[in-house]
Order: sequence, then structure tokens, then C-alpha cells
Amino acid sequence: AKASGKNKLCFYDPKLDEYAMLRLALLSDFRQSFADGDFVVLYQPQIRFSDNTLIGFEALVRWHHPERGVVSPTDFIHLIEENGMIVQLGEWVLRQACSDAMNWPAPLQVAVNVSPVQIERTNLLTTVIKALKATSLPASRLELELTESSLMCDGDSTIMLLNSLREQGVRIALDDFGTGYSSLSYLQRFPFDKLKVDRSFVIAASENVQNVNSANAESILSAILQLANALHLQTTAEGVETQDVSTLLQKLGFTNAQGFFYGRPMTAEHAENFISQWPDIQNK
Ligand code: C2E
Ligand code: CA
Ligand code: CA
Ligand code: CA
Repeated sequence: AKASGKNKLCFYDPKLDEYAMLRLALLSDFRQSFADGDFVVLYQPQIRFSDNTLIGFEALVRWHHPERGVVSPTDFIHLIEENGMIVQLGEWVLRQACSDAMNWPAPLQVAVNVSPVQIERTNLLTTVIKALKATSLPASRLELELTESSLMCDGDSTIMLLNSLREQGVRIALDDFGTGYSSLSYLQRFPFDKLKVDRSFVIAASENVQNVNSANAESILSAILQLANALHLQTTAEGVETQDVSTLLQKLGFTNAQGFFYGRPMTAEHAENFISQWPDIQNK
């Protein structure tokens, strides 16, 4: 049987089976590959609209699998969240990111993604303090990106954790904003510095750039921005791929931008080069 068109029923799907096999294979390879040092952290630039300043980079992990080549985090983070290995990987990424950021001129910052598993099962405050101490990176140059799923478990203890991190000087960004379902109550309850608006909204708005008929996506973005302003939160637009979209988002009032238009995730070495050439590199 086959899955035909858009109406996928519960037929046997060899593709699903293949995917399950891939997941199993990746899961069983992870531990050894991590021990072998097959992971790299890439850095994607973040730009402030108002004065076109490079404010820093987001750290994005990649797995250089010995046989499969580069494996995307969307293909393995989920797996290692299930078995808890994300804790080790997350701590390694944090350490690596802080140490790479030490090679950047102040006040350039690094933003590191944190898994809900790290929040639920480890003492993130201790881990962060240790990483900052070990690398000598000032806390003010570290930002942590959390998703809404981090906020669902034990709200009160997470609020305490976030407050402690902010007392240290670390900033907190809420990632993928708009993809969850109770975002508004989270904004009120949790102490964030920044909202990262999910790429899907940016894509919708960019379609508006071509299709003048519908202004829905822009209206939604405007509403999000009003809300963020009222709560004194900075806003970052993710997935900015073109000049037109960048111009639109700046006009709408976003604080910061991130996306292929400014730069793809790059090695630490390239990031240093990028820093030294910004903003001239932008027009190449
Ligand atoms: P994210 O945190 O939302 O990161 C942004 C993703 O969007 C990255 O994918 C980035 O490469 C991609 N991206 C950036 N600009 C553009 C653009 O203009 N167009 C398009 N089409 N894509 C863009 P990536 O690196 O594959 O990471 C995927 C997800 O994996 C991340 O989404 C994050 O949730 C997770 N992830 C990555 N590194 C880590 C990590 O160290 N720890 C944890 N817990 N999760 C991570
Ligand atoms: Ca992120
Ligand atoms: Ca995101
Ligand atoms: Ca995302």
C-alpha cells in the first residue's frame, strides 16, 4: 500500500519504518560518537535593527557522524532528550560556546539553546556558573534560549531558576514564540528579556511581501510586537532570508534579526572572520 496524496491513512508506510530504523541507529551511535568528539558548534549572527550592530551569535550544534556525514539537530536532539544524553551534550555546547565567545570582542554575546530536560533534571544554575567561571566569560555576554516546553513542568521552581540566572547577569530569551498554545500566560508569569518570534510567522509575513492581498501575518506580528513592548521585552525575528523581509520586519518594529540574509550558521573560525568584516560583509 502507499500513502497517496494528502489523505494519508494508516497503510503500511515503508518510509516510516526507515525513519524508525534511522532513529534507532542514531541513538545507538550517539554515546560513542560524542566520546569521539564528533560534535561541532556553529554560530549564526544576530543583528540589531536600529543601528545595524552585530550583537552576537546563536550557538547551533551539529553532529559530524562518521558514516552519515552532518546530522541536523532536528534529527537527533529529540532522541537524546528521551534518553537523557542531552544533559551531557547541552553542557558541552554551553562550555564550548562560552569559550568561543571569549575570542569575540565585548560586548558580543552568545545565545545557547537549553533543553527542557536540562531544566527538569539538572541544576542549570550551577552548570551555568561553572561554565562562566571555567571560561571567564562575563555573565552579561551569555543568553539562554528556552522553549515553552521548558515552562510547563514545575512553573514555580523554573521561575526561581530564571530569576537566579538573571541575578547572575545572564539573559533569558523565549524561543519559537507563537508555536505553543499558552504563550500569553507564560509571558506574564516568567521573567524573560527577549522574545524570539518563530520563523513560521516571518515566512507568512514574507509571503505577504509578494501577495499584497492579505495582511494577516503582518497584523499578527504587530500584535506580538505591541505585547512585547508593553512587557518591555526585546524581540528577535528568526528566519530572515531576504532584504525585503528584513526591511518589513524593521518597519514593524522588531529589535533584532537573525537569518540566512545576514549569515548562515558558521564555524567559530568563520565567526571571528565575520566579526572583523561586519558590516562590510553584509553586501557581499
Ligand atoms: P532554533 O533554536 O529555532 O534555531 C534556529 C534554526 O533555524 C537553526 O536550525 C537555524 O540553522 C535555522 N535558520 C536560521 N536562519 C534561517 C533562515 O533564514 N532560514 C531557514 N530556513 N532556517 C534558518 P538548526 O541549526 O538545524 O537547529 C534546529 C533546532 O535544533 C534549533 O532550532 C534548536 O531547537 C535545536 N538545537 C540546535 N542546537 C541545539 C543545542 O545546542 N541544544 C538544544 N537543546 N537544541 C539545539
Ligand atoms: Ca534557538
Ligand atoms: Ca527558534
Ligand atoms: Ca525552531
